Amino acid sequence: MSTLKKNFSYKSFTIFNKLNNKVLLKVDNQFPQHFYPNSIVDYANIIKEIVSGKTKNYPIVSLTVKDYPFCDFRCQDCLVKESREWAKKNINNLVLDIDKYKKILKDISTYSKENGVENVRIEFCGEGNPDLYVYRKEIIKYASQKCNMKIIYVSTGSGLTDDDLTELVLNASFIRISFPGIDHITYNLFSNQKHVKYTYEDSLNTLRKIVSLRKQYNRECDLLIGVRACIREEFSELYEDFIYELDKIGIDCVQLAKVFKYNDNSPTKISTKLKSILKKIADSKYKHLKQVQVPTRYNSSSDDRKLRNNSFNICFSALFNPVLYGDHLIVCTQTDKIIDKQFHYGKLNGKVNEVSQLYNNEVSNEIRKQLPLCCNDCCAVYDNVLLNKIYDILYENKENIDNIKFMMEE
Ligand code: SF4
Ligand code: SF4
Repeated sequence: MSTLKKNFSYKSFTIFNKLNNKVLLKVDNQFPQHFYPNSIVDYANIIKEIVSGKTKNYPIVSLTVKDYPFCDFRCQDCLVKESREWAKKNINNLVLDIDKYKKILKDISTYSKENGVENVRIEFCGEGNPDLYVYRKEIIKYASQKCNMKIIYVSTGSGLTDDDLTELVLNASFIRISFPGIDHITYNLFSNQKHVKYTYEDSLNTLRKIVSLRKQYNRECDLLIGVRACIREEFSELYEDFIYELDKIGIDCVQLAKVFKYNDNSPTKISTKLKSILKKIADSKYKHLKQVQVPTRYNSSSDDRKLRNNSFNICFSALFNPVLYGDHLIVCTQTDKIIDKQFHYGKLNGKVNEVSQLYNNEVSNEIRKQLPLCCNDCCAVYDNVLLNKIYDILYENKENIDNIKFMMEE
């Protein structure tokens, strides 16, 4: 079965003991696009290697890269504005030169390979518009072809040339286009561009080109194409048409997300009317769309990311999914961690073996001991809760660990 079909047809993840077929955990495979092209089984296998002692160090499984903190849009709800302004003042090498950048990626992939991960997932995303980084094509090609990384690319697409699109389609695993608005008027309004250069129609056309290139290069089985947009109460009536338009184009998935602003203690409420629209959208059957992801809890104004309601002991995000921001390696994408240097593992210079040293030294261990104790809310709360459950089960069955198996079911 193709990677794409597999990830979207599996409905649940199970841990069982093969000696007596006893099911130790069964959970929904709710958001396959989240880990794509990996699945929760990949993470479970890595934890198994660590608990059994076969792997000594925690590999970097997924790296989020913030390599271009400048943007052509001025979105009203830009979630990274605060960390971007902080980074401009506090990180010297925000835009890496290409040689150093390549060496850093090479060292990360070598380190992870030595610790059991052949294909590091790398997510190029914005604290700005990654399309505008002058070496974008080169770094994508290098990460994919020389480091065997699995590329996730997230942007508005406003700065992608036809050549960039071709390179992306040839090398990426997942391309996700962000929509600041969901029709012509709201796109202009919320992207807040100085002189509107890139419109809603342009963005739909970029998606059409990506879909057509995917077909041309025979990548329909494994290249996932998605869209992300914010949920805004005042434009409730526009969402159904927006989703219908995207389905017609032939993309695979859509994520409709609430706006989570840093330090915002009173996020906007979602009305009953919008809740029912979102539910209808998520439950509908589409010609092409395999999944429309909406917030899991309709009864709260925001998904609950508070740690007091979702407790876990180990922050697997800090262990498996760090952030490379310029040349700084940071524990996670949460704004309060980016803007506080005590949560930066340190700087990378592109020297051989430096990731291994930086990731496993006393300073990094001390940082991890504070996590999640010092966190009030968590950007990866559901992943962390699930990975901790997997860890606990494996640890409880340590003596018998070879008989513990994982399975995805349709
Ligand atoms: S496109 Fe993204 S980074 Fe740029 S202003 Fe909008 S939200 Fe912020
Ligand atoms: S917010 Fe805290 S617990 Fe959550 S991923 Fe970041 S460091 Fe880990």
